[in-house]
Amino acid sequence: MGPIDLRSDTVTRPTAAMLDAMRRAPVGDDVLGDDPTVRELEERFAAHVGKQGACFVPTGTMANQVCLRAHTQPGDEIIAHEDSHIIHYETGAPAVISGCMVRPLRGEHGQFDPSDVTDALRPDNIHAPHSALLVVENTHNRGGGSVWTIGRVRAVTKAARDAGLRCHLDGARLWNASVASGTPMREYAAEFDSVSCCFSKGLGAPVGSIVGADRETISRIRRHRKMLGGAMRQSGILAAACLHAMEHHVARLAQDHGNARRLAETIARVPGLSVTPGPGGAGPQTNIVYFDIDPGLGIDGNAFSERLREKGVLMLATAKHRLRAVTHLDVSAEDIDRAAGVIGECARG
Ligand SMILES: *Cc1c(COP(=O)(O)O)cnc(C)c1O
Repeated sequence: MGPIDLRSDTVTRPTAAMLDAMRRAPVGDDVLGDDPTVRELEERFAAHVGKQGACFVPTGTMANQVCLRAHTQPGDEIIAHEDSHIIHYETGAPAVISGCMVRPLRGEHGQFDPSDVTDALRPDNIHAPHSALLVVENTHNRGGGSVWTIGRVRAVTKAARDAGLRCHLDGARLWNASVASGTPMREYAAEFDSVSCCFSKGLGAPVGSIVGADRETISRIRRHRKMLGGAMRQSGILAAACLHAMEHHVARLAQDHGNARRLAETIARVPGLSVTPGPGGAGPQTNIVYFDIDPGLGIDGNAFSERLREKGVLMLATAKHRLRAVTHLDVSAEDIDRAAGVIGECARG
């Protein structure tokens, strides 16, 4: 039996049915514009999020960065939560690719209020950078997979728009947010000039992310994708996996969320471990569980994850005394119970 891999929802392997869909996919040369499967994916995604167009890209990082580039000029400032993916996990790309600064906002669970946006706006004078773009992340990764309510999204994007900013939604896990909240993706997307989503996370595709936006923005994004080396050829093989995932792997995300809650409940009962609460003080809202190890146990996050690994459970340490577990389609409820048992054993030493 292989290890139970809870390091990320990116570790999934394509299912047999997905591989079949990839094998059967009609393909062309997408850089020349004639890969029918990529076109179908872009059209279907655009319709799904209520945008005029879409652009298929290799990764979520590229999806975000081509959007930032399309919405800004060098010297502009991007407003985002201090824990956002674009700040922590994209290698400083906003500075390099778009020549922009990022203004970090504080707030619980990766979220903030309209007044935080308003307070961060720069004055219009020759000294200050130009506030150009607001980025919202939903679900919020470092915020514990937290879900923005549509009301709060509307409030913060209105504050930005009233000041002339554009808005981008980092929706790497927007499907999780939509399944958890019951808010359709297009309702979230309607508040933004662009939306990026990953097929390679909870949806279980091996590769692939996508951007949705209006026609004019998408045509500029296609240029930026080419410049970054992200225009691919017979990428219909990948797009077929993403189409299959959109069709078959969305509703089942509710199981991942249930498994995450189940795992969190068990961890919460282990002496010396405490689960980071989600909004409202409840457990995780989607598929990400963060928990802290009481320093009194005399073990840090790295050593704890090493103990887990020896017993066949993989998790990432994300801070000195903090671990992260992510549920996904390759872990069952039984795997979760087994992992929970192992976590208890490791905490006892
Ligand atoms: C994973 C992730 C991305 C980008 O993902 P890649 O690893 O580049 O595909 C962007 N934003 C968020 C919130 C993510 O979790």
